[in-house]
Amino acid sequence: VDDAADQPILAIDLGGTQIRAALITPELEVVGRRAAPTHDEAGVEDVVRRLCELAIEVREAARADGGPDPVGVGISSPGPLDPWRGVVVAPPNLAGWRDVPLVPQVTEALGLPTFLERDTNVAVMAEWRYGAASGAKDAIYITISTGIGGGIIVDGRPLMGLDGTAGEVGHMTVELDGPLCGDGRPGHAEAIGSGTAIAREGRALLERGASPALAALVHDPDEVGAQHVAAAADAGDASCRQILDRAWQAIGAMCASLVNVLNPEVIVIGGSIAEHRSTLIETVQAEIDRRAFALPAKRVALRRPKFGDDVSLIGSLPIVNQRLIDPAFRPAASASQEASS
Ligand SMILES: [Zn+2]
Repeated sequence: VDDAADQPILAIDLGGTQIRAALITPELEVVGRRAAPTHDEAGVEDVVRRLCELAIEVREAARADGGPDPVGVGISSPGPLDPWRGVVVAPPNLAGWRDVPLVPQVTEALGLPTFLERDTNVAVMAEWRYGAASGAKDAIYITISTGIGGGIIVDGRPLMGLDGTAGEVGHMTVELDGPLCGDGRPGHAEAIGSGTAIAREGRALLERGASPALAALVHDPDEVGAQHVAAAADAGDASCRQILDRAWQAIGAMCASLVNVLNPEVIVIGGSIAEHRSTLIETVQAEIDRRAFALPAKRVALRRPKFGDDVSLIGSLPIVNQRLIDPAFRPAASASQEASS
């Protein structure tokens, strides 16, 4: 991978609540930044149209400022998605989005080669190329917030799998008959370690009348959030502390399996929950030491991310630059090749 070859790109971050766009220079400057609410309830067409408008605005603002012209567009989107065809498949946090051919539409609107990648794969590329995992041979990025997302770098590229769904570390089974995950399957790490799971357990405590400290913070079980469980645990509530301990252990078991299978150099652990809980990393390290082989457990470094929200913009820089020269991402060429062979 050659740093010097990077060209400026236009990055778009499609999220459940916000669409953001900016020009990213090879020096990692974020130029002409724009943001707008996603408003997915307005319908897919409307969101796509506004997304294109935002991107065009960014390009024009950069031009007006004498900024560089982007050579391509990178879109970070929640998964599942098909990075080769540029189709957003069915993200749970974008209502109505089913098999949306986003890349063809953005390509046409901007007249630039456009590439789509899962938000966590974009993040792992940013941290691996320029951030907390920079210089590492193989790296894993894990984000712990309402869900548990992940991305894996092997030999300098995101691990994608046949369908582009690889790297979804939060959906590793850590308990055979454990609680159901948001996707309806039992015992995934996300069903125990995520903010949603912590809130669910807190709600059950409150309904049983088993946590006076939690009851003092929130009355309506439907309003219990992970932050309430954390506050009650910090106030000394043993039941709430147990919920958090179990959550961190589930994340630790998940990481220990990743260490055994992939022997990574760095695991970057970010997300709103990891950010606010200092004991999480210690527990994860203890679980890795307890559950993983000695050699890779000793090898792996747990790190906090370098980038904040801009991770999903900056990561598009290496992705677009790589894919512009990667034959696997030349849809027109490969289609005509297939047709002629
Ligand atoms: Zn799951």
